[in-house]
Amino acid sequence: MLRLDSDVQYVKGVGPRRSALLGSRGIRTVEDLLLHIPKSYQDRANFVPLSSLRVGQDAAVHAKVYRSRVIQTRTRGRILDVILTDGSSFAHAKWFHGGYLQTREFSAGREVVLFGRVDFDRYESKFVFFNPEFELLDDGDESASLDMGRYVPVYEEAAGITSRQFRRLIAGALSDLTKDLDDPLPEDIRKAHGFPDIYTSLQRIHFPGTDDDLAKLNQRQSAYHRRLIFEEFFLLELIFALRRIQGRSLKGVRFETTDRIRQQVKAILPFHPTAAQKRVLKEIVDDLKAPYPMNRLLQGDVGSGKTIVAFEAIVIAVENGYQAALMAPTEILAEQHYINAKRILDPLGYRVGVVRRGVKKAEKQELLKKIAAGEVHVIIGTHALIEEHTVFNRLGLVIVDEQHRFGVVQRLQLMAKGENPNTLVMTATPIPRTLAMTLYGDLDLSVIDQMPPGRTPIRTVHVTERDAGRVHRMIAAELEQGRQAYVVYPVIEESEKVDLKSATEGFKRLSEVFKGRRVALLHGRLKSDDKETIMRAFAAGEIDVLVSTTAIEVGVDVANATLMLVDHAERFGLAQLHQLRGRVGRGAHSSLCILMTPGRLNDVARQRIQAMTATTDGFRLAEVDLNLRGPGEVAGTRQSGIPEFRVANLLTDSELLSLAQKEAQRWANRTEERERLIEALSARTKFVTVG
Ligand code: ADP
Ligand code: MG
Repeated sequence: MLRLDSDVQYVKGVGPRRSALLGSRGIRTVEDLLLHIPKSYQDRANFVPLSSLRVGQDAAVHAKVYRSRVIQTRTRGRILDVILTDGSSFAHAKWFHGGYLQTREFSAGREVVLFGRVDFDRYESKFVFFNPEFELLDDGDESASLDMGRYVPVYEEAAGITSRQFRRLIAGALSDLTKDLDDPLPEDIRKAHGFPDIYTSLQRIHFPGTDDDLAKLNQRQSAYHRRLIFEEFFLLELIFALRRIQGRSLKGVRFETTDRIRQQVKAILPFHPTAAQKRVLKEIVDDLKAPYPMNRLLQGDVGSGKTIVAFEAIVIAVENGYQAALMAPTEILAEQHYINAKRILDPLGYRVGVVRRGVKKAEKQELLKKIAAGEVHVIIGTHALIEEHTVFNRLGLVIVDEQHRFGVVQRLQLMAKGENPNTLVMTATPIPRTLAMTLYGDLDLSVIDQMPPGRTPIRTVHVTERDAGRVHRMIAAELEQGRQAYVVYPVIEESEKVDLKSATEGFKRLSEVFKGRRVALLHGRLKSDDKETIMRAFAAGEIDVLVSTTAIEVGVDVANATLMLVDHAERFGLAQLHQLRGRVGRGAHSSLCILMTPGRLNDVARQRIQAMTATTDGFRLAEVDLNLRGPGEVAGTRQSGIPEFRVANLLTDSELLSLAQKEAQRWANRTEERERLIEALSARTKFVTVG
């Protein structure tokens, strides 16, 4: 008897060679093999006789080869033409570029099953299948019943193993599989949602009965699919839920919100918060008041106003006698937060400090001393905050801005500077909700899903390099109106001098073009002080055109800047382009984003640019990105821990993911069941390493 964790080499038909091949594709156990689920199903229970084919129908036919030949054509290359008969009539099957299919395999008399769309060949006045899927059957094959007279599973070929061979291996594994499987899904949940048990699901997902719904099977919507997808999500969400419960049992820093504190929080607001900002603040305050440490992700599209919410939380922390730390991924952004914090928090009498590189040693020492002594209340900085010599006095609140630019580890390192401090991580990386749930599942999620009022939409246009003259005129027109512009060049690795070339050259050229204007160059290799001077000057309107690398990608907020030109836009990812575009459209003036590319673009680049010109909705773009690149890449960067799902698909199965999350949270709270579930989890070790 096989168990799910039995080695795949014990499956009938798997010898050492195949087991090695399968292993190279990650199929090592019986479970791995059984989770290689069909890519589609064909109705071979009801073969269509050749005499009753209808044009346009998708049909499975069972016939014999009557004759086959290769036709050499001038325009279409070699075509393999096979004439089939089933006694009732004849039909053709044609494969273009059919040179690789051997005519001798289609020898007269050979039995074949074909599946495809029925067409009509006018010349020969015969029915024809163009490039159909096919299977050649073997004479006297005992297992031929696997291939016919039923709904037949079709598999993705892998490791040189054909669909038909997989059918046999999997049938073998299933027939030897013990019925006595531990079902990781609690029976209640199965009952509640109509999920079949694990044994049935595995049997039927491969070999459904003719009473199953073929359309649903092909849409991955059968009860068996749904159950296996759900299970995969459920186990993952269960880990997250258990971690959250663990987090809740920690004793954290508990803040109070008195009337006075509420007053102070209100006092700092330079504008009326949006409804979304209010809602999110309430979620944060509830956490801060609770005995456990806050562990919250604040998600909100570029420009949705996350910063002020963070400052509100900071006020609560400081009023409670604690320090707050705000970590940003770039010096420019840290600098900007510092300027804002000073403006907003100085009036409350808080002392704000920024920890940065490139300042004089004595100055830095002095600041660090004050931080350690608790004399600075609000500490802003880059990675410098997690360096060893940065020591806090009473760190009660940790905020990580643009979390996607950091790793999980860095968040934890900063948190370790306090004793279970309240933690808020913020991200504008528009990742779809499903991805957020699988990436940040151990965090509570707050979403700002509304833009501050009075924004004018950003128009986005795509131009080629030949339009440079026109683009310069567009920039000139904007400057004429008193507005400012960004011009961004791609720089992959800022430490590489060569890569700075395009930005420096662009800077020279633009300085020529806009002679009477103030043009400045900003990049990551400048000294901190210089960066600061430039950013301040730009924010104060003393610079008209800021030529930059992606150093300004995140966070920079200058309302009077209304034009963003991205040169070589094809070299940027979608998330990056969206972030860059988010630098404009921040004030009452209408804004323009110009994406410049060479004339020729590859497919993916073109689709990205098209998406950018079609929408400014970050979540929409995130979905496009997910479609273009897949979850791993989108989560990508330094974030580890996106699990590879075997049956589930984040793009299409979000409804089951939400359900799984809900159920996992409910179950994780049922102490009696917890142990059993944890056991089930550790049996599926694949997930335990996540995150
Ligand atoms: P992000 O979420 O991208 O970090 P910011 O916090 O930088 O966005 O906010 C973008 C801009 O919108 C800032 O200039 C900020 O002052 C402004 N802003 C934020 N909330 C509001 C609001 N409720 N009303 C008006 N302006 C707002
Ligand atoms: Mg921000």
